[in-house]
Amino acid sequence: MTAPSDAQRPPLPGYGAASMEKIVSLCKRRGFIFQSSEAYGGLNGLWDYGPLGVELKRNLKNYWWRVMVHERDDVVGMDGSILMNRAVWKASGHEDTFTDPMIDCRSCKSRLRADQLLEKNGGRQCPICGSKDLTEPRAFNLMFKTYVGATEDESSITYLRPETAQAIFVQFKNILEVSRKKLPFGIAQIGKAFRNEINPRNFTFRSREFEQMELEYFCRPEQGMELLEYWKEERLKFYENIGIPHEKLHVKTVSDEERAFYSKGTYDIEYDFPFGRQELEGVAYRTDYDLAQHQKASGKSLEYFDEETKQRFIPHVVEPSAGVDRTVLALICEAYAEDEAPDEKGKMETRIVLRFHPRMAPIKCAVFPLLKNKEPLVTKAREIVNLLTPHMYVFYDESAAIGRRYRRQDEIGTPFGVTVDFETLGEKDAALRDTVTLRDRDSMKQERVAIKDLLDILRSQIA
Ligand code: ATP
Repeated sequence: MTAPSDAQRPPLPGYGAASMEKIVSLCKRRGFIFQSSEAYGGLNGLWDYGPLGVELKRNLKNYWWRVMVHERDDVVGMDGSILMNRAVWKASGHEDTFTDPMIDCRSCKSRLRADQLLEKNGGRQCPICGSKDLTEPRAFNLMFKTYVGATEDESSITYLRPETAQAIFVQFKNILEVSRKKLPFGIAQIGKAFRNEINPRNFTFRSREFEQMELEYFCRPEQGMELLEYWKEERLKFYENIGIPHEKLHVKTVSDEERAFYSKGTYDIEYDFPFGRQELEGVAYRTDYDLAQHQKASGKSLEYFDEETKQRFIPHVVEPSAGVDRTVLALICEAYAEDEAPDEKGKMETRIVLRFHPRMAPIKCAVFPLLKNKEPLVTKAREIVNLLTPHMYVFYDESAAIGRRYRRQDEIGTPFGVTVDFETLGEKDAALRDTVTLRDRDSMKQERVAIKDLLDILRSQIA
């Protein structure tokens, strides 16, 4: 854990002043993200993903899994339980030290994280009411406590996991045995984590329930520093490959004071959100701390036996730990754009467009018959939907004027639009029979392509 400052900063250049507001409103209007329990006034720091949000999230997780697990022969996956024996959280140090410093404002009764106070004229002030009447900081444990079984007493306490990593450490030996991997090798996991954040803020950026994509990459002690560099670079490439440009990504070297005491090196990969530069992912060289702690507390050996040197030792680990929700938010912020496009009558109007990388876009292709009351057009369009559906998420739309239909897809980031028109039926020019227009979301350009080539063209773009 590092302690970043979430303090409100002026919007960064490149983002309009109101852009976060616009993004939140688009997310709700088009079904990306809703407030959890909205009908009951919501619950702070909790969010639901709607039909498009869940697709975006899934595309991100699937791509991470593909790159981090399937395309490598040195990584395997697992899916651990959210509730674990309390002893895990004692051994990992979370029960005693997974805390943030909390301060109360005596005037307006706000609860604040110590790093959210305003610094003014050498003194500290409440960012809500400006009062200087503040309590001393005290440690607040971020884990949600719960009870397992029918009795609510000391012996049944455990916690919702605040990170997915611990299940990997605790299963290290089992997975080593079944996978028969040799060092260096990794175990990857994607799953929910829960933190009772003192002050959830910035939309989904700091939530109380979120998902992590974590890799624990085990190695020999002498490989740790080199692998830290390697994983930092790999992870930067990942973000570029999902459409986050290099210039908006920053690597912060976490200082000795900010770093966990057991870590020999940590980088934060940060992104320029509209509300400031903030962490997307931490890449940390955690030494052998975690495995050593669990070996000591459980009394079970977590050592690795090196066949060649005949040595036994506890492996070291490098951990790239990314947030699904933060990355989804970065993808939406990055994709959001407004430009000018002609309406039905040729008059220029503002167009809202989400310029997602086709790989991430929730819907890959929309298929439109030019007119809904012309049976042959509808039939052809349906055939195209059937052709594409096994390979990608396709949306069929026959209602409203074609320009309106394009606009609706632009707003949700669908990269391709296929229109079936009279040329497709070969009515005007037999040479154009079985061709369609393929429209590009960003340039709005349309080209004529043969239906038989459509699948290959689209697949090469979304892979
Ligand atoms: P922060 O300093 O922002 O609280 P952290 O350094 O505590 O984050 P880690 O413990 O390193 O975060 O967790 C790894 C990743 O999990 C983070 O980089 C982030 O993407 C994600 N994450 C952590 N806390 C939250 C949260 N409250 N809401 C959403 N994502 C989170």
